Amino acid sequence: MWITDPSKTDHVKGSRMEKLKLWQKITVEIKHELDQANFKTWFGNCFLKEVVDDILVITAPSAFIKEQVTLRYLDLLTEAAEKILGKKVKIELVVESNNNHKTVPVEEIFEAPAPSQINILNPKYTLENFVVGMSNNVAFAAAQAVVQNPGISYNPLFIYGGTGVGKTHLMLGIGHAILKKNPALKVIYCSSEQFTNDFVSAIQNHRMGDLRAKYRLAQLLLIDDIQFFSGREGTQEEFFHTFNELQSKNSQMIITSDRSPHEIAKLEDRLRSRFAGGLMVDIQPPDFDTRVAILKAKANEWGTTLPEEALKLIAASSEVSIRELEGKLLQIIQVLKAQNLPTTTENITLFLNKTPKKLPALSHQQVLTIICHYFNLANKDLIGPKRQKELVLPRHLAMYILSEELGMTVERIGQILGGRDHTTVMHARDKIKNLITKDKEMQQIFIEIKQELSTN
Ligand code: ADP
Ligand code: MG
Repeated sequence: MWITDPSKTDHVKGSRMEKLKLWQKITVEIKHELDQANFKTWFGNCFLKEVVDDILVITAPSAFIKEQVTLRYLDLLTEAAEKILGKKVKIELVVESNNNHKTVPVEEIFEAPAPSQINILNPKYTLENFVVGMSNNVAFAAAQAVVQNPGISYNPLFIYGGTGVGKTHLMLGIGHAILKKNPALKVIYCSSEQFTNDFVSAIQNHRMGDLRAKYRLAQLLLIDDIQFFSGREGTQEEFFHTFNELQSKNSQMIITSDRSPHEIAKLEDRLRSRFAGGLMVDIQPPDFDTRVAILKAKANEWGTTLPEEALKLIAASSEVSIRELEGKLLQIIQVLKAQNLPTTTENITLFLNKTPKKLPALSHQQVLTIICHYFNLANKDLIGPKRQKELVLPRHLAMYILSEELGMTVERIGQILGGRDHTTVMHARDKIKNLITKDKEMQQIFIEIKQELSTN
């Protein structure tokens, strides 16, 4: 039944073209929030099927996409639709694989989706742009061996090391290289948090069959940050069986972790020994020369060249995490650009002297206080239930900072911020991460808050 109240139907009439147009408007909103690879992966083959009263029925091409979109992006989708339609709506996702919505010339509106598996892997991270140095050459050699003989020699490949040293990059690089040789391969990449979420929701919805079909049919399984399995008995049990099945089928598994299997607390012994039974390689914090080489490569990727001296200064300013170094490089480039200053060694020294080296150890309460102070909010509003725009951004930023800077788990962050669901936290964190790389204003806010945090 189509809405008949004309005041509500400006955007929507029954024709297929109109639905496509409405869907296009909604996806434009969504595109603001997601990078292109993610957008294509999750929304590239979703369509607006119908609008029934206040319900928008969206088709997803598979149960997997439906599940993931529901889990990660339902709020975003709802907000986007509400913004376009100017009223409250509910989104309902249905699986429709051969939907006839595709028979209209959607190419006019949408970019053609690339093969779905490649989409899932962030195209930024390849073996070609992975800089090899003393700290990671063993891991890189292992990666090449796995690419040559997936599933056979080293299964699983277990990559461990501190945060920001390139574990995810290397794992996805292997994924791309294997896919290049065999584009039809069924690849699944997920964080251990996502696997856990999938498992929990499969139990709740009595859909264990779907979960098993999904993971156990993978021919290449990439699981990031497995340390979050710690203490999750049910998930570990399920993963153990997945693991065995994939191993018996010679399906390659790659696992990353911030520590070795022996150091992961509350991990079942049988999993520990499975993880250690393949090839374990660690990535060390990069030495100075590698840091310089990586900075140079990143600057090139972003279309800038910096004097060697300047690269060295930046490389010397932080030792452990490449992610941090990269963030600093990006900040420098942007700040200098915004002030119309050339990227000379002098200007960079000035910048580095102004920005403190590292955030001091902060409690989550201090972070919340600083954010409230910065945005002039009451703590109770920040953690409260209200969802006004003025509250949502600070709240999301808080989630991001607690996750990225304090390394807290999404579950704990959800609790701290008024008992919110951890999927909300994941979504918020990713959204802010994305905004910080794209949005000037957001970068400024972030730099200022970081300065507040570091002087506290
Ligand atoms: P981890 O998963 O270990 O926390 P990531 O793989 O996310 O770290 O790497 C953090 C950032 O550093 C990414 O942007 C990545 O591209 C970059 N990086 C890490 N190691 C290298 C490397 N050897 N060459 C190029 N970039 C790297
Ligand atoms: Mg990682």
